[in-house]
Amino acid sequence: MLHLLEQTTEQLHAWFADRGLPKYRVGQVRKWVFERRAREFQQMTDLPKALRSRLAEEFQLFSSRVVQHRTANDGTEKLLLELADKQHVECVLLRDDREHRTVCISTQVGCAMGCAFCASGLDGVVRNLTRGEIVEQMLRLQMLLGEDQRISHVVVMGTGEPLANLGELLPALEVTTAADGLGISARRITISTVGLPKGIRRLARANCQYHLAVSLHAADDALRNRLVPANRKVGIASILAAADDYFDRTGRRVTFEYVLLADVNDSSEDARRLADLLAGRPALVNVIPYNPVPGLRYRTPAVGVTARFVDVLSDGGLNAKIRHRKGERIDAACGQLRRREGQ
Ligand code: SF4
Repeated sequence: MLHLLEQTTEQLHAWFADRGLPKYRVGQVRKWVFERRAREFQQMTDLPKALRSRLAEEFQLFSSRVVQHRTANDGTEKLLLELADKQHVECVLLRDDREHRTVCISTQVGCAMGCAFCASGLDGVVRNLTRGEIVEQMLRLQMLLGEDQRISHVVVMGTGEPLANLGELLPALEVTTAADGLGISARRITISTVGLPKGIRRLARANCQYHLAVSLHAADDALRNRLVPANRKVGIASILAAADDYFDRTGRRVTFEYVLLADVNDSSEDARRLADLLAGRPALVNVIPYNPVPGLRYRTPAVGVTARFVDVLSDGGLNAKIRHRKGERIDAACGQLRRREGQ
């Protein structure tokens, strides 16, 4: 059986044309899937009954099932999805007081980058997600919203390195931005990378308006090699050169993420080095106090230490903010729920 969300618009048109069905039926199906949040073909009541049955015989609308649904007091909701091959993947809905409804999605089962402080990287990567599996996470999360509410932002910050799966991510984001898809502006989509220079340059050439966030976590290669092993092959200088290229080509300011780990990368000296490294760039820096992961030795810095770190960055001329991870009580740090499920 085919997964409907894996099909391109052209493939769907071909399927309908081969059966002598009018083109506008494709538009009706897409409207039911992306806007009217249908869970099964039988709900598509403006399609003839025979066509609904035929679609149900040949296509799966969803290929995953929800095996866990957790809700935190701050409105954050997290889903653990079981995919067709029994692998698990996480996705999160975040709400904030500005009426933003942001979904955080994954791009791989596991992750090969091996960041020292992250649950997702502990067991390596299993496989890339398909475009349909990426889109499906957004549809599942959209179903958690009230009928009059829509997803406002997408952050590609869940499990996996998005730029290691651009071949599937870019078509999935095309559906996300399409007027007859989820209709979310490219400028409201953030792709977060550990920093793969080739992938950043490829994304820049794709000429989209996605917001790029580079997870830096250290201002020198010696420390970054320890925290982000993927850095050993590339180094900070080539990542920054690629990020500069991204800004030059797209005009979009790059955000640098810095997870603050107590007594590891949180000293004033670390902050000064970071300010020097990014000096002269029109960058934003998000400083994220670490969200502890069971089994890992890293700790959250004291509130005063975090504030001092940001002050040093601001004094150094950077636009820096503290960002707190939401939904700590539901294991919202990426990979925690999946590991707990035993994969
Ligand atoms: S922090 Fe991101 S890139 Fe690093 S191991 Fe975790 S999922 Fe992979």
